Amino acid sequence: MTSTVPTHPPDWLIVGAGFAGAVLAERLAAHGQRVLVIDRRDHVGGNAHDHVDAAGLLVHRYGPHIFHTNSALVFDYLSRFTEWRPYEHRVRGRVDGHLVPVPINLDTVNTLYGLQLTPDELPAWLAARAEPVAEIRTAEDVVVSQVGRDLYEKIFRGYTRKQWGLDPSELDASVTARIPVRHDREDRYFTDTFQAMPLHGYTRMFERMLDHPNISVRTGVAYEEVRSQLAASRLVWTGPVDEFFGFSEGRLPYRSLRFVHETRDVETLQPVGTVNYPQDQDYTRITEYKHLTGQKHPRTSITFEFPSAEGEPYYPVPQAESRATYKRYQALADALPDVWFVGRLATYRYYNMDQIVAQSLATFARMRDDLALSPVPIADALVAQDGD
Ligand code: FAD
Ligand code: UDP
Repeated sequence: MTSTVPTHPPDWLIVGAGFAGAVLAERLAAHGQRVLVIDRRDHVGGNAHDHVDAAGLLVHRYGPHIFHTNSALVFDYLSRFTEWRPYEHRVRGRVDGHLVPVPINLDTVNTLYGLQLTPDELPAWLAARAEPVAEIRTAEDVVVSQVGRDLYEKIFRGYTRKQWGLDPSELDASVTARIPVRHDREDRYFTDTFQAMPLHGYTRMFERMLDHPNISVRTGVAYEEVRSQLAASRLVWTGPVDEFFGFSEGRLPYRSLRFVHETRDVETLQPVGTVNYPQDQDYTRITEYKHLTGQKHPRTSITFEFPSAEGEPYYPVPQAESRATYKRYQALADALPDVWFVGRLATYRYYNMDQIVAQSLATFARMRDDLALSPVPIADALVAQDGD
């Protein structure tokens, strides 16, 4: 994206050009605010950034990003900046030498145990193996209370230990509650109302969101480098909240990933978009982008995800201790009226893209009310659509 230097001091400095930063930049600009967006990476899109690799395949630099939402508001909002390619994600797990559907469904059980259960019989089969748990508190409780210990160990324990460097018994229930258990043959990873990929990729969508005369974007610029020179009266922070406060309340834990991108000389490598490895390998999953993008090409590009304690912060770690630390940062953040904290790292929430868009739109609604912002005429047509 071309960098432009603002001719006037901006009204707002937005740190981070991911979903949170881009939605707020777009909304504020449409309401007549001059916005400067910076990102320390050399591109826009945050973790959702995609690009065409050396082989000519569209790939995601920071691992697979599959868009899904039940929110018509979020889908309609993003549809202003992209057309879509319908896509329903499917995942298989490599378990005991088989490739089985994840989330667990009827075929997963029948394949792994050599059975021919029907959808009517599966609930009783699972109930006979499920362990009663008085109060579901941990990521282990969620799974063993539904499917019992054997399936838990085959599909969840090893994967979770790799992904988080923690046993599921040490993580909040919310981590594995993301994955349902199904009694039929439904094998889509998500069942949301809207499931689609931006037709020309995420980066193109971000470029369109940020393409407004009131928005300047400077990539490859860290906040630390420019904070003393910039005179914006208000700040939106979408980076790690503990970093903003100089780690004064202690470091928040984040889980990182090392991505290994490869191109193979075959047309297709695996039967679905993602294959998970819950039992062996140091990586958690391999994603083959062609399935997501629908691109036709004689070669294929894939990404391995190797979890790691070191590196860029990607995942807030859902645990009681980290929540308590975050609460202290939240109190500091709440005391700063001219700084808005938005996004996965700034609000320390394990949120999907659509949840970040919803959070950002809700934050904008509060800003608009607090500051009595009105849409500028050029944005009237857009504003009429969302009724603000
Ligand atoms: P980010 O995308 O992290 O953007 C924050 C930006 O701020 C970054 O670009 C960073 O460089 C910049 N920044 C931080 N600090 C500074 C600083 N000091 N100075 C300048 N810039 C700074 N969600 C889904 O809905 N579906 C998926 O399939 C999916 N898959 C995922 C797979 C992986 C491997 C990961 C890690 C996440 C996935 N997500 C998925 C979640 C999704 O990435 C997030 O919900 C979304 O990207 C969060 O947007 P954000 O703007 O809050 O943060
Ligand atoms: N999980 C697992 N085995 C799997 C898939 C998921 O143990 O085959 C657990 C793991 O703890 C993971 C969590 O469920 O972190 C949520 O999975 P999801 O696919 O939503 O993870 P994300 O895409 O956010 O990395």
